[in-house]
Amino acid sequence: MTATVPPKPSPPQVRLDEEVDRHAQTLVALSQKIHANPETGFKEVQASRWLADLLETSGFAVERGVGGLSTSFRATFEGTMAGPNIAILSEYDALPELGHACGHNIIATTGVGAGIAIATSGLPFAGRITVIGTPAEEGGGGKIIMARAGVFDDVDAVIMMHPSTKAMTMRGSLASGRVEAVFHGRAAHAAASPDQGINALEAVIALFNGVNARRLHFRADARVHGIITHGGDAVNIIPARAASAWSVRARDRAYQRHLVAVLRDVAEGAATMTGARLEWRETRGYDNMVPSPAIAAICALHLNRLGIEDISPSPNERMGSTDMGDISQILPGLHVYLPIAPEGTAGHSIEFREASASEAGDQAVITGAKVLASTALDLLLDHKVLQQAIHEHAEMVRNGLVAGRDGWMTARA
Ligand SMILES: [Zn+2]
Ligand SMILES: [Zn+2]
Repeated sequence: MTATVPPKPSPPQVRLDEEVDRHAQTLVALSQKIHANPETGFKEVQASRWLADLLETSGFAVERGVGGLSTSFRATFEGTMAGPNIAILSEYDALPELGHACGHNIIATTGVGAGIAIATSGLPFAGRITVIGTPAEEGGGGKIIMARAGVFDDVDAVIMMHPSTKAMTMRGSLASGRVEAVFHGRAAHAAASPDQGINALEAVIALFNGVNARRLHFRADARVHGIITHGGDAVNIIPARAASAWSVRARDRAYQRHLVAVLRDVAEGAATMTGARLEWRETRGYDNMVPSPAIAAICALHLNRLGIEDISPSPNERMGSTDMGDISQILPGLHVYLPIAPEGTAGHSIEFREASASEAGDQAVITGAKVLASTALDLLLDHKVLQQAIHEHAEMVRNGLVAGRDGWMTARA
């Protein structure tokens, strides 16, 4: 008589891969549906409903409209006992005119797919998986509003995925801010009595020229770009009011603040030069993303086992800004990129929109869900990894690399 050998249990990540494959058709169909029905920030009514519905039917307890945003959601799935709370984020807003040219349909379904794979796998874990639907990444800062409302207060680590042209776990993002510089002069007939006027448009022109005079001396990561939003009303009137809008970005908040201070100095100089009065308005924008090295390292292992190489960002990596940057200032965070388009393809372009509904885009939904599910489960099962991520984050707060929860809340107050 031969003894029966119990089947060898498959490693958890293989179980999760199988679950993602089992849900693949549903996830890809939903990604395509969101892509075909683009909704801009705070108006993602259908996308948020479709995603929340799917989570609900997969065993999650779903709250809709958390943090004061009607198109947000929070879906929780409890483990067998108390433990850490790992959040996986889902973005689903489109760009005005361009549609899903940032591929948030893929972000949406990888986040939800990863959560569902863990929930339906039956794998035991202590703690909680929370899938958070965060509206309006493209300028509205949904995550910032939700963080201020306390949605991330009970979360231990946050992970999400973004489509790109390369796989990267350690790519950051720029700290950003907006400035409105408005100049007030005095109207007068431009031919009959120009000597009575003060030309506000000349102040705006002096501001642009002044910024350009300083530009050579900016660090390579500086991005200071403006437009003239009002330049006068008629050619025969000396402009009494002229206005400009600016975006100011850099790799870190300290240097971004320095650039804003330079812009302000130049604007005050432009006012002095022309006799106009400066009106100055500033908004904070998004903080820079600081990836958690510990979480990035386990994510890279999962990329590798799926045959994907984790590319290190170059020192002059081209980057935009994201409200996930703010979350990474509060908590250990991962914002992993996966390729869907050839290198050199610009984000926010028609080409990137096409890629977001292509075969490569669909593949990224599946790969992304696998990678996020495995990374989240590692954080739940291997407390050493989560502790290391928390320890590293605390160290970064001490070194001033990130603000930390209290610092961030104060800066945002
Ligand atoms: Zn974008
Ligand atoms: Zn995006």
